[in-house]
Amino acid sequence: MKKKDKNTANTAGEGEPEAQELSSAPEGEKVSKKKKRLKTALLILAVYAVLVAAAAVAVDGRHVRFYMNGAGTVTTECGQPYKDPGCYAVTAGRLFGESSRHLPLSVEGQIDTSKTGEGELHYVARYLLGRYETVRHVQVVDTTPPEIRLLHQEGYEPSWLDGYTEEGFVAEDLCDGDLTEQVRREVQGEKIIYTVSDAAGNKTQVEREPKYAVTAPEIHLTGGDTMELIACRTFTDPGFTAVDSQGNDLSSYVQTEGQVIPYEPGSYELRYSISNAAGETVSAVRTVNILPAPSPEAVQPSRNTIYLTFDDGPGPYTEQLLDLLKAYNVKATFFVTCNYPDYFDMVGRAYREGHSIGVHSASHNYYEIYASEEAFFDDFDAVQEMIYEQTGSYTNLLRFPGGSSNTVSSFNPGIMTRLAQAVNDMGYQYFDWNVTSGDAGETTKTRQIVQNIIDGCSGRRASVVLQHDIKDYSVAAVEQVINWGLNNGYAFSALGLDSPSAHHGIAN
Ligand code: ZN
Repeated sequence: MKKKDKNTANTAGEGEPEAQELSSAPEGEKVSKKKKRLKTALLILAVYAVLVAAAAVAVDGRHVRFYMNGAGTVTTECGQPYKDPGCYAVTAGRLFGESSRHLPLSVEGQIDTSKTGEGELHYVARYLLGRYETVRHVQVVDTTPPEIRLLHQEGYEPSWLDGYTEEGFVAEDLCDGDLTEQVRREVQGEKIIYTVSDAAGNKTQVEREPKYAVTAPEIHLTGGDTMELIACRTFTDPGFTAVDSQGNDLSSYVQTEGQVIPYEPGSYELRYSISNAAGETVSAVRTVNILPAPSPEAVQPSRNTIYLTFDDGPGPYTEQLLDLLKAYNVKATFFVTCNYPDYFDMVGRAYREGHSIGVHSASHNYYEIYASEEAFFDDFDAVQEMIYEQTGSYTNLLRFPGGSSNTVSSFNPGIMTRLAQAVNDMGYQYFDWNVTSGDAGETTKTRQIVQNIIDGCSGRRASVVLQHDIKDYSVAAVEQVINWGLNNGYAFSALGLDSPSAHHGIAN
């Protein structure tokens, strides 16, 4: 409450017009004396009345009095609309007290609450000829801390793999506006703390604790932690799954280490690992035990037996050979190649007619097939596929090109030792021979070939005869051999897994 009385002098001004009226009073000397006296009396009365009124006004001291709600100095919050507590004014005097009527007030000045600072409002009242005012001081202050809003991405699911990816936040201050850039983000354990201060030093801190799979995924090995396999051509990993506790499939992030050589018996370890952004790693280990296939004992035939074997076909003479064997009901063995595709169907026929089929070589190129185990088995598989196409099954018989005792493979030291072991471990049986027909270069004479075979087989319990059915002079020897054998008490038989293998000593 404050009142201004500097303008109380104005009340004196109020009397001036009447004083002027007074100075312009008596004039008529021509009116009657009575009338003149009356006029004089009235005038005296009027002057007296004016003097009394002026005295009353002066003594009353009538002026404007302000009543302000609230303090003369108030504070208001930055960024929020200013609400003035209000003010009213009345007239007041010594003699007649306060008027109950509020004078019309105007307010001059504005309070800018968009920033901190000081402002003034002037309440102005007019009374008679005077202007009265009082002032309110307003301090715009910022005591409200900024607000941090944490955003959430619809459908976002953090995982153990990536950890938590910030979903976003917004910081706003009534006074300073957008403070998002000033937010400090700190990871404390499993919590994230967000802090920001406004220009007035008001500080806000919020936190979030993202709910996600903090536990590591489990790697489940399909097929078990331990596998036992018979030595074979290829090992196919049965697979694995990695799932975190939120159900996220992380399998594609699993790295596999280790190698299994499937044709080499032994114990192998495969390690499956998955690492996350935080550098944590989860692993599982699979032990793969490669076991050698059981190899049946070779059984000696109960009577002298001739095992006719033909390498390097099928070829142009295979059909007539099969006709002959059929006519005599003699079973033989064909170690086949892929060199003459026109005659592949002879493989099927031979198989159906009770002959044995074995792998020889697809390419029959020593330098290719003995370059490595991989190269050998690639070639081996090619023959197996051809055999499968013609017969509907794979074979477990083979003959190494050049025989197991070859030295043409010595450019790759030890390869024959390793291959012989590998094929045995995989359940194959390889055959060499103990009777040479001589058709591999020694002679092209059928008569000589017949003689070589007869000489070789004579008196032998198990004769494994090497011939080549791509050579007509060798095929031409077969009928005489059969006749000699049958006439001399020999049996003819096709080779099987448990037949005498006629192994040579391995030289490489
Ligand atoms: Zn050959």
